[in-house]
Amino acid sequence: MVFTEPTTQSKAPGRRVAIVGGGLVGILAALYFAKRDWNVELFELRKDPRGTGNQASFSQKSINLALSTRGLSALANTGLNLDEIVLNFVIPMKGRMIHLDKGELRSQPYGIFGECIYSVERKALLELLLNTTKKFTNIKIYFQHRMKTCNFDSGLLEFENVAEEIKVRYTADLIIGADGAYSSVRSRLMRVINMDYHQEYITHAYCELTIPPIIDDKGDLKFAMDPNHLHIWPKHTFMMIALPNLDKSFTCTLFMPNENFDAIKTESELINFFELYFPDSIPLIGEQRLKEYFRNPRGSLISIKCKPYHYRSRAIIIGDAAHCMVPFYGQGMNCGFQDVEILDNVFERFNVTAFRNDDNLDLDLALKEYTKFRHEDAMAICDLAMYNYIEMRSSVVNPWYLIRRKIEGW
Ligand code: FAD
Repeated sequence: MVFTEPTTQSKAPGRRVAIVGGGLVGILAALYFAKRDWNVELFELRKDPRGTGNQASFSQKSINLALSTRGLSALANTGLNLDEIVLNFVIPMKGRMIHLDKGELRSQPYGIFGECIYSVERKALLELLLNTTKKFTNIKIYFQHRMKTCNFDSGLLEFENVAEEIKVRYTADLIIGADGAYSSVRSRLMRVINMDYHQEYITHAYCELTIPPIIDDKGDLKFAMDPNHLHIWPKHTFMMIALPNLDKSFTCTLFMPNENFDAIKTESELINFFELYFPDSIPLIGEQRLKEYFRNPRGSLISIKCKPYHYRSRAIIIGDAAHCMVPFYGQGMNCGFQDVEILDNVFERFNVTAFRNDDNLDLDLALKEYTKFRHEDAMAICDLAMYNYIEMRSSVVNPWYLIRRKIEGW
């Protein structure tokens, strides 16, 4: 394959940013930079997800997510009403619903003032963000472009256009790595800076299952459980959770050690396992549908910490590329959104404009400040996420924990 120079790249004056990775965080970053009048080019390895019914075609991660105040704030501060728009297609979850052993249910509200988190479908949120990019003539999106390599000092990026099987080169003043946990931009950064890096796979994995809607006497579709809760089946060393979807189904996620997954090999072993640990979920999922267990992918769970996030005035990593966390605190995407909001605040404080200047000192200082400001908080959330697995799978049924909740009223 030979390299071709892009014919489409913007020749407009002003700074150019190349965002590698068109997941939730990369697209939100594109919107923030476009609002600041930068020329934005976003490169995504996968196909355009819009119009494809298949969730798996664009993400191997969860089908739905918990959106919290942290994420909503970043959506609001785009100034594009994204927070209000997204609230039209979410389901509020006011607390946890604990499924106890004998089918007994116990509601634990998230707050005494009706505070809640929101269940949102990943695909719907991604499509909202992608469709919003159409408002900006200064955003160009290239799907099916895999970044192969980049040179931060020259700003040259090389991609494989996987649809046309050609290699293409682009240049940018600033490169943003929003390319997820296995970030190529981060790997390149490690070659030019002394990056502290820590990754940890936990021994647990996850598998998604579905609770379909039920049909009532009038033939209408209904949720099979209370939709305004995040449902948890805590089993101390493992757990299952379920979040509601707008089509009145629930997506369940079974989290447990790999060895437990490996031990279930046949349909009868699967039924026995569910009868023993999650008996009330069998009629909800249905014995036939439960077999999705054997078809659906088993996802691994990784936590990644690193520092610094930037290289001079030339590059920065955000989202999972910078701090991938286990999903138990429901904050990975929310934190990635917050990265974008914080970066924008730092640009404001350091007066970083869309216009190039000779030494790029404004960008240099702003990116340095971003790492300094962001690192500690990002690490704290990674740790809280790890801790929250114990909280969800065990502490929520610990008698002392429940007494404390009662006394303190939370
Ligand atoms: P990603 O979503 O990984 O996107 C990165 C993008 O980069 C991908 O589209 C990929 O195709 C692209 N890419 C990769 N390499 C290249 C390359 N070389 N060239 C071009 N493109 C490339 N978070 C929450 O806030 N709330 C939740 O409830 C929640 N639940 C979760 C449940 C599970 C089971 C899991 C696994 C995660 C959950 N998360 C949750 C975390 C959340 O999914 C991630 O934090 C979020 O998706 C990170 O977004 P991102 O854009 O940084 O990375």
